[in-house]
Amino acid sequence: AGCASNQPASSSNDANTNVSNGSNDNKSDKVKIGLSLPTLREERYPRDREAFTQKAELLGAEVLVQAANNDENLQSNQVENLLTQGIDVLVLDPQNADSAASLVDEAHKAGVKVISYDRLIKNTDVDLYISFDNEKVGELQGEFLTNLVPKGIYYVFAGAPTDNNATLFKQGAMKYIQPLADKGDIKIAYNQAIKDWQPEEAMKLMENALTANDNEVDAVLAPNDGTAGGIIQALAAQGLAGKVPVTGQDAELAAIKRIVAGTQSMTIFKDVRAEAEKAAELAVQMAQGKEVSELADVNGKTDNGKIEVPSVLLTPVVITKDNLDKELIESGWFTKEQVYGSN
Ligand code: BGC
Repeated sequence: AGCASNQPASSSNDANTNVSNGSNDNKSDKVKIGLSLPTLREERYPRDREAFTQKAELLGAEVLVQAANNDENLQSNQVENLLTQGIDVLVLDPQNADSAASLVDEAHKAGVKVISYDRLIKNTDVDLYISFDNEKVGELQGEFLTNLVPKGIYYVFAGAPTDNNATLFKQGAMKYIQPLADKGDIKIAYNQAIKDWQPEEAMKLMENALTANDNEVDAVLAPNDGTAGGIIQALAAQGLAGKVPVTGQDAELAAIKRIVAGTQSMTIFKDVRAEAEKAAELAVQMAQGKEVSELADVNGKTDNGKIEVPSVLLTPVVITKDNLDKELIESGWFTKEQVYGSN
């Protein structure tokens, strides 16, 4: 409920009253928006899809959604398919930040504008970027962890190397961890990126890290809740779950339950309902012919290696035991029963 604008549904669209024959290109034709997601594995993505679709449909658009199962080639095919179906705007959450640039080119050749959704598409003249302040996400994780454990042995995990967000999260966290490592207070005994953000991979890597360090560990930087889950499983197998602070991100239900149980220390809440609704709103406006420079809400610029991409960046929030009722239950993210109920 943090986001203000409740525009009255402008209805130039109650218009199936037109008399004309087949070929009309009048304004009552629905705009078509394509949403391409990298995966539906993390709990957030069905929420992104749902909020986006609802909002865009409410604004009179038709929405086509594809999800790529963490496969960049599949995503490429899906985007080509969306373009064939005549979408007016493409909202693209890329599996691969670099190779997705060619998808932006293809869309532009077809006269279709592209919004980089949640993850930045690099080295291309993508039209708009909508996300959270991702470096801030990492800062919040790093600040939390170093406050709790200012000295000791750290394992540092990062998300997928193909995801620009993973780079930003780590960069933000290291602003807090690196200076203490340089001072010698913190020893980074393990430092590893996790392919495709896979929870199973995170678990295996954590097992390796524990074995290599004789189970010595005082704090773990985990980039999101999915990977935190794998990491905590590996800790649990050594009787260490709950004894070692672990970070997270996404406010997934399993993570919130771990926070209540004390095996995960925190998560980052990004209200993707607001992110997706904002994306839907702006996509529809762009499909209706508005220029990006005319859009309200643009509150920053993000360098993607080629241009400064006009950006809408939302604010992430730290969640611990202390504020989860207020932030997650009162906001309707979860019900009390989901969090505290017996299953
Ligand atoms: C998103 C995270 C998500 C991760 C894995 C990131 O780009 O920002 O919310 O956990 O990808 O899908």
